[in-house]
Amino acid sequence: MAEPAPPRPAGIGPERAGGLNGSLQLRHVDAGSCNGCEIEIASAFGPVYDAERYGARLVASPRHADALLVTGPVTRNMEVALRRTHEAVPEPRLVVACGDCALNCGVFAGGYGVAGAVSDVVPVDVQVPGCPPPPEAIVAALRGLTGR
Ligand code: SF4
Repeated sequence: MAEPAPPRPAGIGPERAGGLNGSLQLRHVDAGSCNGCEIEIASAFGPVYDAERYGARLVASPRHADALLVTGPVTRNMEVALRRTHEAVPEPRLVVACGDCALNCGVFAGGYGVAGAVSDVVPVDVQVPGCPPPPEAIVAALRGLTGR
């Protein structure tokens, strides 16, 4: 039931993604999201948008991952956990910041429990804007990394 594959996004993705050889293992980290972004991520990996057909896959451990897929502003309670999860990903580790909150704290900017945007805590390689970003945008960003 998958949607027909849209054309491959042109010339996107950081240089460091070259070593992935078309296969991207992702560890998802909810750093403080409202869960709206998670619903769209679930849809991106569901049967309709089917991100796995482009080589992207969600894994259960950062030690098995090439990249982190981070949502939400980084809350104070998640700041250390995000740093440690990032350190657990083997080099060259990539970070995809997913959603406006991850990019700039979004609607939670200035909140007492917010430590900052994802880039304030770990280096970010790919940004996926939107509140929440639609599955098409998430899949396009991941295809930019897998090159498929
Ligand atoms: S970007 Fe929007 S949907 Fe995603 S965590 Fe923030 S408020 Fe929720």
